[in-house]
Amino acid sequence: MGKKIVILGGGFAGLLSAQTVRKHLSPAQAEVTLVNRWPTHQIITELHRLTAGNIKEEAVSLPLAKLLKGKSVNLKIATVEAVHPDARQVRLHDGSVLNYDILVMALGSETAFFGIPGLKENSFVLKSVEDALRIRNHIFARLDAFAARGNAADGTIVVGGGGLTGVEVIGELADQMPAWCRSRGIDPADIRLYCVEAAPSILQGFPQELIDRAVTSLESRGVRFVTGQPITEVKGTEIVLKDGSVITAGTLIWSGGVQGHPVVASCGIEVNRGRAVVNEYLQSVSHPDIFVAGDSAVVMGEDGRPYPPTAQLAWQMGETVGYNIFALAEQAKMKPFKPVISGTLASLGRKDGIAAIGARRTLLKGFTAQAMKEASHIRYLAHIKGLFALAH
Ligand code: NAD
Repeated sequence: MGKKIVILGGGFAGLLSAQTVRKHLSPAQAEVTLVNRWPTHQIITELHRLTAGNIKEEAVSLPLAKLLKGKSVNLKIATVEAVHPDARQVRLHDGSVLNYDILVMALGSETAFFGIPGLKENSFVLKSVEDALRIRNHIFARLDAFAARGNAADGTIVVGGGGLTGVEVIGELADQMPAWCRSRGIDPADIRLYCVEAAPSILQGFPQELIDRAVTSLESRGVRFVTGQPITEVKGTEIVLKDGSVITAGTLIWSGGVQGHPVVASCGIEVNRGRAVVNEYLQSVSHPDIFVAGDSAVVMGEDGRPYPPTAQLAWQMGETVGYNIFALAEQAKMKPFKPVISGTLASLGRKDGIAAIGARRTLLKGFTAQAMKEASHIRYLAHIKGLFALAH
């Protein structure tokens, strides 16, 4: 009988694991099941655009059934509750249990709230298509209220955290805001768009030249930066900063960081700050029948520091895992994970962007960087055979 392979997660790493494993193992050799909490593959690198309505939902939310068509992969739409590595079992939210011979954990990461009082209850996060749509609808309701009553809080939006997520989302909002205001008879100058960052500057670790570009570009479109001021508490619409000052805002989008997935962190495999420790073949160091890919795993670079959890890494890890499942199942030689890091591309809205490309970290600014980001999205869709999404 074929091996039972269970893949948890239908994001970049999980989808690529499933697509790749089927290139090497026939249905007679392996039964493959992919579990995802919703029926779509969500391209979360484009959620900032969806938040602002600058991309169609269909282009970032692709039916998994279509992407896996003809690949003999069982699709199970369910939320994973727990993994029991010693029993080789996965428990789902409906109480059902899946047994496996080889497991892939590709559950991604979660937003970290760092125990800041009131933050989770009073903020929006941007980790799914539903989150993006919820934020947009909320902003529309607040702008409608602002147009009706002129209450300053309704016209104030705060993005907490000036990492790549925060910068990309505020860039899109800044671009879209004038049109949203005009259609409601609001003067765009009356809307306040803040990015609050704990560190002395946004985009920590980026070359200063790109940080300067991002700040200048976003400020010219009305974004106000507050740096060196962590958010310490949120009380309803009151956002309290470390120096005691308060910003009253009807909308708080929290992008202050990510942490390991709780199922991975608590299942008993070896973890480092909630992310699985893996060997060069992306197997859990404590449980070799479990592969871990994407944000759920921590992978060390040549400099001994962990790679940042990014989509390009998740995608490549998924492909390595897909091949190594075949190798493990058929007792062939596994391939070590050797990522190709093409660089970092960040959009600053529809017409501007910043990028550090290639091993030499060539710096790009402006429309070229933005166009490269768009091209990488299309390249990814082509890779997963998802170009049908653009035909809608
Ligand atoms: P991040 O951890 O990279 O950035 C979070 C930011 O929030 C940091 O600058 C941090 O100083 C700040 N912060 C933390 N606590 C705060 C507080 N109390 N008040 C105010 N600010 C606070 O998180 P992210 O931006 O969500 O990115 C997560 C990962 O995803 C990263 O590895 C990133 O590289 C990746 N990512 C990549 C892209 C891209 O390649 N275009 C886009 C988005 C995210």
